[in-house]
Amino acid sequence: MKIKIDPALCQGHGVCQDEAPEVFRVVENPGAYDHVELVVESPEEGLRPGVERAVRYYPNRVLSIEG
Ligand code: SF4
Repeated sequence: MKIKIDPALCQGHGVCQDEAPEVFRVVENPGAYDHVELVVESPEEGLRPGVERAVRYYPNRVLSIEG
């Protein structure tokens, strides 16, 4: 599974990290919104449900799954 992040849209709310902490980590970004980083570039399939929740619950289209 490949995940795409649009960093320009991320506002650091951390919903993604709550849903899939094995995959997403929110880091401080001094002077701007906190922003998300991937903990793993290509998460194993077992992590897909949490990633899908993160994508679904966050309406801004910051996150998407490619494949
Ligand atoms: S990707 Fe969305 S949920 Fe995750 S930190 Fe950024 S704004 Fe928040």
